[in-house]
Amino acid sequence: MSAGTLTPSGTKTPGNYIEEVMIQVKAKNPAEPEFHQAVQEVFESLSLVLAKHPEYRAARILERIVEPERVIMFRIPWFDDQGNIQVNRGFRIEMNSAIGPYKGGLRFHPSVNLGILKFLAFEQVFKNSLTTLPMGGGKGGSDFDPKGKSDNEVMRFCQSFMSELARHIGPDTDVPAGDIGVGGREIGFLFGQYKRLRNEFTGVLTGKGLNWGGSLIRPEATGYGCVYFAAEMLKTHQDSLEGKLCLVSGSGNVSQYTAEKLLDLGAKPITMSDSNGVIFDPEGFDREKLAWVMELKNVRRGRIRQYTDRFKKAVFMPTDIKLEHNPLWNIKADCAFPSATQNEITAKDAANLISNGIEVVAEGANMPSTLEATKMFLDAKILYGPAKAANAGGVATSGLEMAQNSARLSWSREEVDDRLHKIMIAIHRTCYETAEAYGTPGNLVNGANIGGFLKVANAMLDQGLV
Ligand code: NAP
Repeated sequence: MSAGTLTPSGTKTPGNYIEEVMIQVKAKNPAEPEFHQAVQEVFESLSLVLAKHPEYRAARILERIVEPERVIMFRIPWFDDQGNIQVNRGFRIEMNSAIGPYKGGLRFHPSVNLGILKFLAFEQVFKNSLTTLPMGGGKGGSDFDPKGKSDNEVMRFCQSFMSELARHIGPDTDVPAGDIGVGGREIGFLFGQYKRLRNEFTGVLTGKGLNWGGSLIRPEATGYGCVYFAAEMLKTHQDSLEGKLCLVSGSGNVSQYTAEKLLDLGAKPITMSDSNGVIFDPEGFDREKLAWVMELKNVRRGRIRQYTDRFKKAVFMPTDIKLEHNPLWNIKADCAFPSATQNEITAKDAANLISNGIEVVAEGANMPSTLEATKMFLDAKILYGPAKAANAGGVATSGLEMAQNSARLSWSREEVDDRLHKIMIAIHRTCYETAEAYGTPGNLVNGANIGGFLKVANAMLDQGLV
């Protein structure tokens, strides 16, 4: 029987059924390897669910959940500072709205394409479900590169991007946020243009400035949440982050606040990176060094290598594309917090981390480990917190920002941080208990995929064939 004629009442095992749907996904979405990877990872966990719940297969939930509800792709023309016309491509993937309005970030990076945004939107569906908040999944962005652009160029680009996107989003429909290349500056320009076009001051974006509807702790939330998640994993081994040496990759939003919370909890971050290379500070970052990095990255928009000009004991290792591994993951440490981008930990990197005795890997970035690397972490039985659980604190706090906007209230820093902390504890508990209930104790990949899937799949069943 061909994949196209698969019948819900067929006699295939869950494994065969999943394989057939996977073949369809690859055939229908060619040249989207990251999307295939994200689907494959979730499907591997779902074979455990389908064995117990034939109703999902009967309703063809897998075939439906991999198909975005809507994909929007558009032209973004804008003028650069020299008066030349530039053209970029914009996207919004509205993946699944079974449990709430589409929610997920916008990424501005030259590598952005349809497949990357579909992988991110797919992951977002399960992540948002895990947060306990009513949010569906979406993702968007552009192949625009904000690096090296003036503030005026970034503003003109954001205004052109929003001129098209505005007609597709809204506080009860689709609520974008930031991601790589989209921080407070970009959200400000996007919000300003939306407000002007629609004549509405609403919570249509999250990550807003504090004076105009933003939430305290939203900038910090992904990094803080990832560290809270790592602390929960360590608690199951009667251990804590106190005194632990930590590898952090990237030097953007997630990395900076991961390092900050690690310092709060008595751990010692010793690395950071950007696309040009890695800095290793054997003495570790302290508050002063971290403040210097934040100023470098967020205000001066410099490169991480400049750190070694200021702090002489640190070493800079430039990116070498000929190397099949990243030297950052070959530095001996207790915990690793990949916080830059997808597939930044290859099988070789995972082997280096494991042979150096890593105890914890908590993923701040989305899908930073390849499928092979993920399998190696699970086989090695280290404490492995997959992205859709470990980095869910960002979108959870976006959900809290939406709640504050709807109530036209602002909560204190302590209140938002406390809610974030409780959400991360709850996400960890869901992953831990679900992994046990499905016979794979300690496997938080299964726990996160299944825990996230069940709520969305049940909502889809309840809502009929839409
Ligand atoms: P960001 O502020 O733009 O920082 C991204 C960092 O990663 C920068 O240091 C960047 O270096 C580095 N990077 C990006 N692409 C790279 C590549 N191809 N190779 C090497 N380094 C690269 O972005 P962010 O918000 O921190 O996001 C980082 C990761 O966390 C992403 O995977 C994102 O999807 C995920 N995430 C973010 C949030 C959030 O709330 N922001 C929430 C959940 C997950 P360059 O400056 O050289 O490009």
